[in-house]
Amino acid sequence: MSLISKDFRLHQHRNEQHGHARLRWALVAIACAGIGAVIASTSTEESLESSKIATESLPAFVTETKSSEELARESFSLSLPELQAQQEIINAADPQSTTSSPKKWREVTVKSGDNLALIFKRADIKPQQLDELMKSGDAVKKLRRIFPKDTIRLLSDSDGILQSLRYEIDQKSYLMVEREQDTLVANTYDYKIETRQTHASGVIDSSLFLAAQKAGISQNIIMELANIFGWDIDFVLDIRKGDNFTVLYEQLYRDGEKISDGKILAADFVNDGKIYRAVRYTNPQTNETEYYTPDGKSMRKAFIRTPLNFARISSGFNLKRRHPILLNKRPHRGVDYAAKSGTPIYAAGDGKVIFKGKKGGYGKVMILQHGTKYTTLYAHLKTYNRKLRKGSRVKQGQTIAYVGSTGLATGPHLHYEFRVNGVHRNPLTVRLPISKPIPKRYMADFDLTTSPIIAQLDLVTRPQQFALTDN
Ligand SMILES: [Zn+2]
Repeated sequence: MSLISKDFRLHQHRNEQHGHARLRWALVAIACAGIGAVIASTSTEESLESSKIATESLPAFVTETKSSEELARESFSLSLPELQAQQEIINAADPQSTTSSPKKWREVTVKSGDNLALIFKRADIKPQQLDELMKSGDAVKKLRRIFPKDTIRLLSDSDGILQSLRYEIDQKSYLMVEREQDTLVANTYDYKIETRQTHASGVIDSSLFLAAQKAGISQNIIMELANIFGWDIDFVLDIRKGDNFTVLYEQLYRDGEKISDGKILAADFVNDGKIYRAVRYTNPQTNETEYYTPDGKSMRKAFIRTPLNFARISSGFNLKRRHPILLNKRPHRGVDYAAKSGTPIYAAGDGKVIFKGKKGGYGKVMILQHGTKYTTLYAHLKTYNRKLRKGSRVKQGQTIAYVGSTGLATGPHLHYEFRVNGVHRNPLTVRLPISKPIPKRYMADFDLTTSPIIAQLDLVTRPQQFALTDN
C-alpha cells in the first residue's frame, strides 16, 4: 500500500528540481506511511480485550516429562495454549502447588499509555511484585521501554505472586525472569538465527519501486539497492522502461520461519542498456563493509575536501556566528573560502546538478547531488560553467562555476556547504565516504570471497547480461 502511494508521489514530483532528494523524501514517506499503519492498527487493537487466559486442555501429543526449567527455555516459541498445557504438566508434577495455588500463564498485550503497574493489575499480580521484578537483574531494564502491541507473558500463582515473565525484546532475543529458590532472576537469551540466501529480479515498467513490489522485494532491500547504485543511477530521472535488476541477498530465519531480510550480497542493475554490478566485501583488517565492482572499485565515489585551489578559509562552520553584514546571530552552516574573483570551483565529487540559480543572500548558487545521501552547495558565484544545466552530470574535479560575490557577500568568496541526509555538516571535518579500491594485498582475498557470490549472481541473471560493460 505504501509502495504505491510513494510511487505516485515520485510521479507527481517528476518535474521538480531535486532528483535524489526526492527519492530520499519519498523513501521517508514510505517509512511514515508504515508508521501510520502501525499506529492505526494499534489504536484498533486497544479496543479489543488485551489480556487472555489460556484454558485449553492438555494436548494429547505431550507425553514426555520435562523439568520446568527445560520447558521454560523452550516455551517462548509456543503458543499460549501450548504454554498453559506445559504449565499444567508442571502443576501436576507438584501436587502442592496445584491444590493450593495453581499457576496460570497470561499473555498481556501492551496498550498505548500502558506501564508495568497497570499490566500487573490486569494480570492480578500483587503490586509489590513489581519492586521485586525490578530488582531481578540488569536484563530486566528492557522492560522500562515497552511499546504498544508488545506481548508480555506472565506466570503467577493464585496468591498474585509472580513466578515467571517472558518478553520478546526483538526478533533475535528475549528476556526471561524466573523464580529460583524464592528469588526472581532475570536473563536475556538469544534465539538461534539462521541466514539463508535468496534472490529476486525485476523489470521496470514505470518505477523501481513498483518493479520491486512486483518482485516481492521488501522496502529495506530496495532502499539498500538504491543506495548502492545511487552514485551511478538517478532512480527518478535516469530510469527507462525495460531497465532491470537482480539482487542476491540474505534472509534471517528463526525456527524455520523468516523474520527479516539481511544484507544484499551482490546485485546487477541494467540502466538504459548499461550494466552495473556490485558485490559486498568486508575488509579483513578494518572490518569495514562496502560494495565494490567485481574488479574491486568502490561503488561509492570520492569527495575532495576543498573544492577550489588558491583559497584561504575566511570563515568556518559555526552554528553561533554573527553575520558580517546582517550583524545578527546567524548560524554559519558552511565554510567560506576567500579567493580571487573568477577562481574556478570544482565539483567535490561525482554527481548531478540539482539546482542552478539565485537564492536570496546566497546570490548565484549551484547544488550538486552525490549518490542518494550527499549534497554540496556552492554560493556567491560569479558565473556558472555554461555547459551545465539542472540535471547535468558532473565528474569530481570538473569546473562547475567561478568565485564571485553575488548576494550578501563582503568580498569575493565561495560559501560551501556539505549535507548528509539533508543535515549540514562541517565540510572541513565531516567523514567523507570511503571510495578507495580494494588494496592490492587484499585483492586475492577479495576475489576468493566474492567469486562464489558473483557466480551465483550469474546463475540467476539472464545470459545476455554476462557481457559486462565497464563502469
Ligand atoms: Zn559563508
